Amino acid sequence: MRVNVLKSSGFCGGVTRALYLLDKTIKENKDRTIYLLGDIVHNDTVNEKYKKLGVKVISKDELDSLKDGEIVLSSAHGISDKMREKLSRFNHIDTTCPFVRKNQNRIKSDPQKEIIFIGKKKHAETIAMTEDNENIWIIESEDELNFFNSFNEGSVYNQTTFNSIKLNKIYEELGKRAQKYDIYNTMCETMKNLQDSLKTVDPRYNVCVIVGDKKSSNANSLVEMSPYIRTHFIENEMEVDKIGLCKLDSVLIVGSASTPKDLLERVKNKIKEKFPEN
Ligand code: SF4
Repeated sequence: MRVNVLKSSGFCGGVTRALYLLDKTIKENKDRTIYLLGDIVHNDTVNEKYKKLGVKVISKDELDSLKDGEIVLSSAHGISDKMREKLSRFNHIDTTCPFVRKNQNRIKSDPQKEIIFIGKKKHAETIAMTEDNENIWIIESEDELNFFNSFNEGSVYNQTTFNSIKLNKIYEELGKRAQKYDIYNTMCETMKNLQDSLKTVDPRYNVCVIVGDKKSSNANSLVEMSPYIRTHFIENEMEVDKIGLCKLDSVLIVGSASTPKDLLERVKNKIKEKFPEN
């Protein structure tokens, strides 16, 4: 059986940087508790590893019970200025991806009165991008533009990991309704490359196995846009048994930007073990 991992799969630069900062903080503060504001990445395999090392994941409501000066890391998805201010009484380590930060600054300095942000409403990055500005409308699909009869002039931004096919549909619909608007496609290069390599079926494979966390926005975008009729979405190698494969299949494994490369290798090995080459 042919089984390969798509080359551009696995941790992006932003996730690698955030985990480097977390590892460094753990190493330099062996006698202290490290608090994480939400998951460092949307991947349970990674999060469990850090929980075992004693790192505590907390919600924003739990911040009030922490003492001044505690070590609190915020994730690569970014945080709003309001949250940054709230974290200022701690020893705050901000691991916001530089690409997300750049987009945040662009939105902050945008002189337009009306701004549309295309992104998943409850996602940490969307909250970081929109929480400081009351004039931002958040949408997830072109249907929601029905509520925007008045959007004639403004700017349009998007979540860095948004599904590019859905994004184009929204732009198309927006073109029919709004008169004057500026589109800033703020999808990150890593995600663009990953999604582009999944836009057409590679004739060498008939099955695509996407490995990522069900909570991960970028993994879900990959699943939504996969052109393979047989696309499976799994979180780890244990789930290989749940997917219907046979020895004549050829499998392309794709990992999201928050999936560790060693997990992708474990999935590959598990499939190879089940269907050894003759
Ligand atoms: S997916 Fe892109 S924007 Fe998001 S953390 Fe990774 S590099 Fe940064």
